[in-house]
Amino acid sequence: MFRGGYLGKLLRVNLSDNTYKVEPIDPAIQRRYLGGRGVAARYYLDELAPDIDPEGPANKLIFFTGPLTGAPLPSSCKFQCATVSPETGHYLCSNCGGDAGHQLKFAGYDGLIIEGTAKAPVYIWIDDNRVEIRNAEHLSGLKVSDTIERLKEELGNSRISTMVAGPAAERRVKFCGIQADGRSFGRGGAGTVMASKSLKAIAIHGTGRVPVAEPDLLSEVSRAAVKHARETKATHTKFGTAQYTGPMNALGCYPTRNFQTAVFDGIETISAEYMAEHYKVKNLACYRCPVACAQLCEVREGKYKGLQSDPEYESIGTLGAQCGVSDFGAIVAANALCDEYGIDTMSCGTIIAYAMELFERGIISKQDTGGIELRFGNSEALLDTIEKIAVREGIGDILGEGFKGLARRFPDTMDFMMQCKWMPFAAYEPRGFHGIGLSYGTSSRGACHNVGGWTIRDELLTGQYDRFAVVGKGKLVKQIQDVRAYIDSLGICTVVRSSLGFTDSPKGKVLEYVTGVDFTPELMEIGERIYTLERLILVREGIRRRDDLLPGRITRDALPEGPARGKILTDEMYRVMLDEYYAARGWDQDGIPTRQRLEDLGFEEEIVERARDYLVEGK
Ligand code: SF4
Repeated sequence: MFRGGYLGKLLRVNLSDNTYKVEPIDPAIQRRYLGGRGVAARYYLDELAPDIDPEGPANKLIFFTGPLTGAPLPSSCKFQCATVSPETGHYLCSNCGGDAGHQLKFAGYDGLIIEGTAKAPVYIWIDDNRVEIRNAEHLSGLKVSDTIERLKEELGNSRISTMVAGPAAERRVKFCGIQADGRSFGRGGAGTVMASKSLKAIAIHGTGRVPVAEPDLLSEVSRAAVKHARETKATHTKFGTAQYTGPMNALGCYPTRNFQTAVFDGIETISAEYMAEHYKVKNLACYRCPVACAQLCEVREGKYKGLQSDPEYESIGTLGAQCGVSDFGAIVAANALCDEYGIDTMSCGTIIAYAMELFERGIISKQDTGGIELRFGNSEALLDTIEKIAVREGIGDILGEGFKGLARRFPDTMDFMMQCKWMPFAAYEPRGFHGIGLSYGTSSRGACHNVGGWTIRDELLTGQYDRFAVVGKGKLVKQIQDVRAYIDSLGICTVVRSSLGFTDSPKGKVLEYVTGVDFTPELMEIGERIYTLERLILVREGIRRRDDLLPGRITRDALPEGPARGKILTDEMYRVMLDEYYAARGWDQDGIPTRQRLEDLGFEEEIVERARDYLVEGK
């Protein structure tokens, strides 16, 4: 069916019996679900039962590249992981750039599925078609950078790509990512799943290439896309996503001190401009990226002097303003510690901000924190708490359980536990951008501005939408989610997608020149199919309308100060958006996809049939 883009093979490694095999992938699945996130979700539906233990041997790590991953195109670096999240207990899709995706493809595989649990620590070495499961006892407990160094030395190859579970994942902190060549599968705990399988690392080296149907024509399009990306994304190159920090604060929409306010008085020293002038060392780039949005920074003084990391908007927001911390050096250090221990920066910052509020309200004391004065603005307390989370000591052990565990311990604090489906909020304020509230509520993996839909562009930059309006947001969020679902399935970075013609009206020849099949006009429908598939999975796992709601702080407390003072997103306002959203999706009022919509979207009969049991509440 395809003349390029896809390799049609997946590598399946079983750690319980120490075996691996190469399996063909049905091209009809790739045609219907594209690749990456879509195909990973399709395998998840088939292979992961709804009630399994996320950290037990029945869970799997399902990695898939897209047809464009590794193709000679700008930013063709992305690949996806689906697994059951230890942080939320539900379906998780996670996205990563760097180098591992194209290396996997160059080694000859579209996907990699890890199943079972090893008896002792191991790592997997994929060297083209040679696959080895090796002892990793000597790597146990090592930080991420030390692990990578040892692997490169041991394998005698400095050009390998690595995916690593950090020491915090080994201690089963629920929100650990998989660190992959300086990027990460950050949210939801994929790293914790990896460590639960006693899998410390995956090293990959591939020497092949991705076949391309029309190489000459593609090369022309690629050159134009590189030029377009360089011209239109210059601010990304200069400041990365940190460019949004100042503007969000100026609008009164910058989550601060656990969403108690949305104006941060320490903004000046955490702005992108301040970062660039005082902390930036250089830009870093994922595979073939002409933008290089990552801003490598270095701690200039103090205990952590010399530590380097590349905090982006979300990490600056969650580890910075959310914790009341205005010392940018402390944010760089906190980000570096999270990266080294393998902890997701966003969950970590948002959970520590919540703990700071517990402390300030007197719900926990210095006795509980092991002497840490866990107050907003205390950068030392932030860093000490991260260290404690990493080793699960005292308060760190409690916070390491994530919001799901914290809700059991502090059930009366749900109103200011900033999460949806147990996934901590990102650094955007729903009372200042109502669309982002719906994104958090309806995202397939819990409160997430990426999978859920980054509405900021439409609610602010294009001037098309009033950010405080609710009517129209349901349709908007659905559209953004569908675009993101197909982008995540193609294998390219969302930052350069428009340079390649991938918008909400997809056009151009990229997909045809790579695969030989022109299915670009169908991409929005494919995106909707993927999103609906994810909802089917969530419905099977028990998710309903009640789980799409937001915490009381957003729906009951008005913003207390700044340009958005008095703004609130009440339950009634949210209901208007949610009803419109469900209607646009063809889901019933409990958020369950209807049989009719499944048929309209061209799902396989077998899926519609299988869904009968959990669609029974719908129509
Ligand atoms: S824009 Fe940033 S995240 Fe996207 S591919 Fe380039 S470096 Fe990676």
